[in-house]
Amino acid sequence: MKNRQLMNYINGQWRRSSAGSYLDVTNPATAEVLAQVPLSTPADVELAVKHATAAFQSWRRTPATQRIQYLFKLKNLLEQNIQELACLVTNECGKTREESLGELRRGIETVEVACGIPSLMQGYNNEDIASGIDEHLYRQPVGVVAAITPFNFPGMIPLWFLPFAIACGNCFILKPSERVPLTSVRLMELLEQTGLPPGVVQLVHGDKETVIAILDHPGIRAISFVGSTPVAKFVYARATANGKRAQCQGGAKNPAIVLPDADPEFVTKTLAESAFGCAGQRCLASSVALTVGEAGRAFTDAMIEEAASRRVGYGLEEGIQMGPVITSQSKERINKLVALGEREGAKVLLDGRDRVVKEHPEGYFLFPTILGKVDPRSEIACTEIFGPVLSLMHVATLEDAIAEVNRISYGNMACLFTRSGAAARKFRYEANAGNIGINVGVAAPMAFFPFSGWNESFFGDLHAQGMHAVEFYTEAKVVVERWP
Ligand code: NAD
Repeated sequence: MKNRQLMNYINGQWRRSSAGSYLDVTNPATAEVLAQVPLSTPADVELAVKHATAAFQSWRRTPATQRIQYLFKLKNLLEQNIQELACLVTNECGKTREESLGELRRGIETVEVACGIPSLMQGYNNEDIASGIDEHLYRQPVGVVAAITPFNFPGMIPLWFLPFAIACGNCFILKPSERVPLTSVRLMELLEQTGLPPGVVQLVHGDKETVIAILDHPGIRAISFVGSTPVAKFVYARATANGKRAQCQGGAKNPAIVLPDADPEFVTKTLAESAFGCAGQRCLASSVALTVGEAGRAFTDAMIEEAASRRVGYGLEEGIQMGPVITSQSKERINKLVALGEREGAKVLLDGRDRVVKEHPEGYFLFPTILGKVDPRSEIACTEIFGPVLSLMHVATLEDAIAEVNRISYGNMACLFTRSGAAARKFRYEANAGNIGINVGVAAPMAFFPFSGWNESFFGDLHAQGMHAVEFYTEAKVVVERWP
């Protein structure tokens, strides 16, 4: 199993990549090698595009009501196999079984929403725009589209795109993260069981070079990307320069404001889950808590206690509340950022570095870390850490807190904890972020709403999910019609 070399899935067949090199896929909790992933070449991408282009001719002519039958089957297969899929997600990505089940549930939700495509894809008409002349808008599929996805949601993020793309009549190429390719392999096996026509969905493994081949291929019309901000910017620039439409979701630094009137116990539990759930490797993790006025002291003490009590370990073991980070390099990077914070004057109130999980000494574990007195102007306050590290800042008023929220260059999510409707409205109105949580720590939009990151967290116009996805994956064709 260890030496299993993964294959690409092209035109309904498992094919060996023409890659010259392979990378190990590792379980971050045990450092065990699970498989080897090929770094696919431009020739592999070419083959995937060729078959997707051929399949598109009949797929776009397949009525939407028939296209969604495959998605109904996929939904059932995902439900039937959810426990096995959750084990896969945990083993390659590190999160706990519960967290894996949670992300798969959100992925299934996207399949369910995409099953509504016959209604969602409808256009609109006007009779008599001039005497005897009618005008119609039709939505047509774009063609061959591709998605490039990150390591932190191996199940959910490919499913943000695949169901909407194919329901709209496109053919789809998935390039999953090379660090977590196994869940995507299983997803293809389940799709195969639905009887989906060959060529409608392809899986091409790989890394940067594979991505560049996708971005430069003239046969691919649209790119969906999720990952870090520097790569999102690069992908957006290259895809659009090549004339493709692109939606590129980037990194985040999500602040949560705590007002003195908020319920302390609820806030502590909710924010600890947001900051340390998935070991802080969630693009919607609250990584900065801004306490206002009297909220400061009690919150800090309660949060330290809550964070220190989390059980860290291998996510398939009973009672584990937090898994490892994805790689040893990631662990090292996070440790360096905490050290930078210290040099910049922050106080390490809870230190999760240099701790081991004794059952798994090889694992890439970090324990929850809390930095106090973080200067909002310091580098650590502006940098995405993407690990189990919560930074605490204190301000005098709600206005000051909103000003700090709006100074952050990202804009994925911002949250407020309060009992005041007036404060909540002010925050909702003024906060410069695309997803807002009011007494919610991880404001993840349902699949029928767009996932609305702003600023440095998103490059493009139309986001993933909801009606944005339908617009992204379709061209609007406008017809003006007269029958003299
Ligand atoms: P990443 O940017 O390293 O990789 C994402 C994808 O890009 C992978 O498929 C990878 O193979 C590819 N890639 C990596 N480097 C590349 C390069 N130089 N050129 C071209 N392609 C490249 O991201 P990651 O570490 O896998 O994921 C974590 C990041 O994703 C975090 O920054 C997190 O905030 C972000 N994220 C954002 C959202 C969102 O919705 N905004 C959701 C999940 C994760």
